[in-house]
Amino acid sequence: MTLSTESFPVDVLAVSAHPDDLELTCGGTLARLAAGGRKFGIVDLTRGEMGTRGSAEQREEEARRAAEILGASFRRTLDFGDGGLRTGRAEELGLIEQIRRARPRLLFAPFPEDRHPDHARAGRLSADAAYYAGLRKIETASPAHRPQQVLFFSALYEQRPDFVVDVSATHETKMRAIRAFASQFHDPSSTAPQTMLSQETFLAFVEGRARNTGASIGVAFGEGFRSMRPPRIDDLVGAFEGFEPGF
Ligand SMILES: [Zn+2]
Repeated sequence: MTLSTESFPVDVLAVSAHPDDLELTCGGTLARLAAGGRKFGIVDLTRGEMGTRGSAEQREEEARRAAEILGASFRRTLDFGDGGLRTGRAEELGLIEQIRRARPRLLFAPFPEDRHPDHARAGRLSADAAYYAGLRKIETASPAHRPQQVLFFSALYEQRPDFVVDVSATHETKMRAIRAFASQFHDPSSTAPQTMLSQETFLAFVEGRARNTGASIGVAFGEGFRSMRPPRIDDLVGAFEGFEPGF
């Protein structure tokens, strides 16, 4: 299936401040959803034009490739301004319209407390837009729709998760999607300035976090989420299957 650049109905809409945020934080979950037959779309709120390495055009091509690897249905890029992400009414209405077009049951967004202000703003804007998208009297081109729940992923600052998704089967796909951003991550032949992301240790950190989160639920790799409401557990005994006995 070819990746669309326009939003259409999906099960999950994942919102990021910058292209590559989702791959680094919840790429395993997105790939697992797609592998299980769920449809997801991506909305990047900025083009990542302030990144130290690579141009916006380069990142756009890398982002398209990464989305294909994860199995996304569409990847839509908005232009709210990297390094000073705008969150005014115009931007809010723009995101509301994207949510209404995508009609997702779940919205993924960055946790609104993070080192990078763009992530924090994107998280707040997404949660607000998800609610407002359900108000009929806020008129945009598409009819009202409110997602069932907003699930927050941790960007740099790690939050204690409310639940963890086992992504052992899709961890490799996630790492491939991350490596699609060749301009951003470690490349010994690159002469571009080093950043935190481009150091060799960074991908080890991403993998280490996934291993650590996975270990908390007794699996090889995991990704944690914060949720305002707890998810329902249908099989309580099964939910702790495979855990190291003890507390
Ligand atoms: Zn980012």
